[in-house]
Amino acid sequence: MIKNIIFDLDGTLYNSEVILKKFAEAAYHTLAKFQNISLEKARGLVEQKRVELKKERGYSVPYTLTLISYGVPIEFWHQENIKFFDPRNYLDKNENLVKSITELKKRYRLAVLTNNNSTQAERIIEAIGLKGLFDKVFTYNSFKLLKPDPNFLKKAAAEMNAKPEECLTVGDRYNIDLTPARDLGMQAYEVKGPEDIEKLTDNLSLKG
Ligand SMILES: [Mg+2]
Repeated sequence: MIKNIIFDLDGTLYNSEVILKKFAEAAYHTLAKFQNISLEKARGLVEQKRVELKKERGYSVPYTLTLISYGVPIEFWHQENIKFFDPRNYLDKNENLVKSITELKKRYRLAVLTNNNSTQAERIIEAIGLKGLFDKVFTYNSFKLLKPDPNFLKKAAAEMNAKPEECLTVGDRYNIDLTPARDLGMQAYEVKGPEDIEKLTDNLSLKG
């Protein structure tokens, strides 16, 4: 029986072209600073690497993993993107989502699990109106682990005292969020954004 729902953050609890663009610009800026090269050169390198990694792995790879492949320490990337932009300036409260999550909270323990850093994750959660609605927020800072490493989900479930079969993972990236969850014996639910979470609320209540 499902007792815990673990949500991905970016692309799952919000969808924003502006934030996506800000993360991309932050990534170019970070590589430029790290390699002491021009912003234009860094942009080219990052985007070229994303194409290569996508070909290699068969799915589009987030900026965090792209920068790591250039040897950028993740702490440096996080420090730079925290300084580069504040998501609270670009995101609005999502009333429908607040309603859905509030409903789910009555029956399940809820967590967020994201490769983002804790500063940006908390800013985003606050901006979309979900502050205080999650029992746990797991970020890179929690265990120094990144999805798709299954140990990230495993440690999070352990901290929630949850068995895998009691967990449902909700995410927008099949290979990053959902495959590791299924491999651990959790249930997985793919969404294209927050509007699909309303459907999740309906589906779960149908199941009783
Ligand atoms: Mg995502």
